[in-house]
Amino acid sequence: MKQIYFFSEGNKDMRQLLGGKGANLAEMTRLKLPVPAGFTITTEACHAYQRNNNELSDSLIQEIDNALIKLSEYTNKSFNDKTNPLLISVRSGAAISMPGMMDTILNIGLNDESVVALAKITNNERFAYDSYRRLLAMFGNVVYGISEEIFDQVLTDTKKDNNYKSDIELTTDDLKSIVERFKEIYTQDAHKAFPQNPQEQLLAAVNSVFESWDNNRARVYRKQNNIPETLGTAVNVQTMVFGNAGEDCGTGVAFTRNPATGEKNLFGEYLLNAQGEDVVSGVRTPQPIDTLKLSMPKIYDQFAEIAQKLEDHYEDMQDLEFTIEHGELFLLQARDGKRTPEAAVKIAVDLVNEGLIGKKTAIKRIDPESISAMLHADFDKVELKKHTSLTTGLPASPGAASGQIYFTAEEAKNAHDDKHQKVILVRQDTSPEDIEGMVVSEAIVTSRGGMTSHAAVVARGMGSTGVVGAHELQVDYKNKVAKINDTVLKPGDWISVDGTKGKIYSGQIPTSEAVIKGDLSILLDWAKEISDMGVYTNADTPADFQKALDFDADGIGLTRTEHMFFKAERLLQMRRLILAKDATGRKDPLEKLLAMQQNDFYEIYKLSAGKSVTVRLLDPPLHEFLPHDTKEIKLVADELNETTEDLENRIDSLKELNPMLGHRGDRLAVTFPDIYQMQVRAIINAVLRLKDEGIEIKPHIMIPLTDSKAEMQWVRNLVENQIKELSSDVEYQVGTMMEMPRACVTANQIAEVSDFFSFGTNDLTQLTFGYSRDDVGSFMPEYIKQGILPNDPFQSVDIEGVGELMKMAVDRGRQTNKQLPIGVCGEVGGDPKSIQFFDKIGITYVSCSPYRIPVARISAAQATI
Ligand code: ADP
Ligand code: MG
Ligand code: MG
Repeated sequence: MKQIYFFSEGNKDMRQLLGGKGANLAEMTRLKLPVPAGFTITTEACHAYQRNNNELSDSLIQEIDNALIKLSEYTNKSFNDKTNPLLISVRSGAAISMPGMMDTILNIGLNDESVVALAKITNNERFAYDSYRRLLAMFGNVVYGISEEIFDQVLTDTKKDNNYKSDIELTTDDLKSIVERFKEIYTQDAHKAFPQNPQEQLLAAVNSVFESWDNNRARVYRKQNNIPETLGTAVNVQTMVFGNAGEDCGTGVAFTRNPATGEKNLFGEYLLNAQGEDVVSGVRTPQPIDTLKLSMPKIYDQFAEIAQKLEDHYEDMQDLEFTIEHGELFLLQARDGKRTPEAAVKIAVDLVNEGLIGKKTAIKRIDPESISAMLHADFDKVELKKHTSLTTGLPASPGAASGQIYFTAEEAKNAHDDKHQKVILVRQDTSPEDIEGMVVSEAIVTSRGGMTSHAAVVARGMGSTGVVGAHELQVDYKNKVAKINDTVLKPGDWISVDGTKGKIYSGQIPTSEAVIKGDLSILLDWAKEISDMGVYTNADTPADFQKALDFDADGIGLTRTEHMFFKAERLLQMRRLILAKDATGRKDPLEKLLAMQQNDFYEIYKLSAGKSVTVRLLDPPLHEFLPHDTKEIKLVADELNETTEDLENRIDSLKELNPMLGHRGDRLAVTFPDIYQMQVRAIINAVLRLKDEGIEIKPHIMIPLTDSKAEMQWVRNLVENQIKELSSDVEYQVGTMMEMPRACVTANQIAEVSDFFSFGTNDLTQLTFGYSRDDVGSFMPEYIKQGILPNDPFQSVDIEGVGELMKMAVDRGRQTNKQLPIGVCGEVGGDPKSIQFFDKIGITYVSCSPYRIPVARISAAQATI
């Protein structure tokens, strides 16, 4: 097995074998760029090392010796040369870049003898000892595990004793005594002397790099970034070039474009008379790369030219490391540069416009999730630094908002309406009764609940900021006070909420609002062009829908009619309806609700401009609408002309032990047909009214909670009879939610009486796992921590279980009707990973909250590509 490749033998496509750094050093060598000569020990050698009980094999040692001979011939220097010593760096580099995770040792080859030779041949004693002290510190740290701070302390003390401001002032004598001090540290701390033999130094360094693959930092980084443990690292052995040999020397890092904004100009920093990590470690303040234009114009021009060449070659923004030795430029590293979401979008669009990449490649390079960070208000970065966060909860709904807190929906609403305050609703949890307070709130904060709790779903739906499950928050309703650790909050106090990160701050922090414009809107247009999956929105109000249209939704995949019932006037009518003794009593509230719903649908349809709108008929259990406290009960009793006792009894009789599995959805249609009839009438009347205005609407009516063909057939008849009563020439579709496991299994039958399917993945997940989604907060985090669940299945679809049911339903549904449109309107409809899967099983469109649309759009395009 060949375990070593010279840079001249490799290329950029060999990352698996040579690691990213090695492959790119080889590529730059191939491009005839000035790269110091060297070779790469392969990742396969790393695997062999691991198999060999973490020891270097004899065959590898032999190969390293041979490579060194070749390198010596090439450079005309050698380890044992008494006048011209060979110095090398040993650098780690895995296939996937793991910045700062592995260790690098510079100046290997120096010892008490060669340091003198180096001083002589360079005529620069200071430089020779500066290099030696660096080797001693790096080697001591990496190979012997001596803490960096111990070495740093010696430098700091020397500077302090001499009143130096920076390392650059250290004299040759200082450096000589630092070297001696460092060697003492070896014997004190590691009880081992520094190995004077260069070969021994090199082998120990290679050994340490292989070992460092398994260090804690590296393992944590891999875990966080899903990098497989089996990859292993390569080791690069490279001739040293010296940025620390005088004022005509230096070292730096630069990006070919600005990594924060994406602007096309060289962006970077350098230091004269410096080596290695000096630039990034902050020991001295580096100079902006622009000033190199003045100090070394030729080098600057050469570097700018190479930067452009590399960018063109790699077709992406590059992050480069370089060193200047006595007015000669060397490249030490190239890789695709990390960037902010804003920069990623701008660079992708610019590269397409510059003709370097195609639109598909541009879209593939965008992390869809990162887009969401661009779409929400954010705290002013400078102001934010002045505040510390009180606690962190789940980042339920992104955005940033400040407001005055209230603990009840009513108080929040009053403060908003009467005092024109910006309010934040802070509660243990929320229920549909709190909607009015939630609507007026800048942000919603709860101490309990998960990412799909009521508070979270509603906040996302409304596009307001939300943090839920903030366990350190204690809300005491009785005493009207909340506590977060030592901080006490009272009604009217200001807090600031970061829904993107889940953080809560005290006080008020200014924000800036984001909109889709410029490059992002161009990129989203391309994504729309490319993807074969539609992206619809879940929108309950004309305002939501407008927001979604601003984000270019293809239509509405889900309008939840019940949310329309929670405004005060409607809630009262709804209560009168539910609590009426008989059909006669239901008549008046039904008429009132009809008028209101009709108007809502009219507004939404009018906005739709030809885009399809799917309205779901009433879904939640009736008890969610019932009054709970005595004041409210009395109000309704008065309205119904009844005693509170009578009413309380009836409310009691409507209570269910398991409401989410109880009297809800289409089961209500079977027992209270007049509610669905009223809703259908509202829909058709709105359609007819628009028809008069010359606007043609094809309503899509969706039935929730279906579990059998017979049930769907029953409800369908109810709906169709009602439609026929009103008009004979409205084109419509009646479809069903797919959210019951039984419905998925019998999808072929249900498809016979259903014009479309739409997966309600929240309920389907809840019922497949048997997890109550309002209660998962108590155990889900532990399940994820223990690795029992890989992630929250309410946020990213459980492919093996829920996904398999979905696949079955798609296949069986299409057995009956090949053209059956099938959507997904649950929370996971906006999740990139889930969207990849949905595309694979043949989903027609996803539907998500307005703010997720751009994320879903990019994901849908990526799934298509
Ligand atoms: P990292 O992966 O942490 O960036 P590197 O292997 O790139 O580590 O090494 C860190 C720094 O060491 C480089 O940026 C460069 O400045 C310096 N360095 C590495 N090899 C050499 C070399 N052969 N000559 C001069 N400097 C080097
Ligand atoms: Mg580097
Ligand atoms: Mg549902």
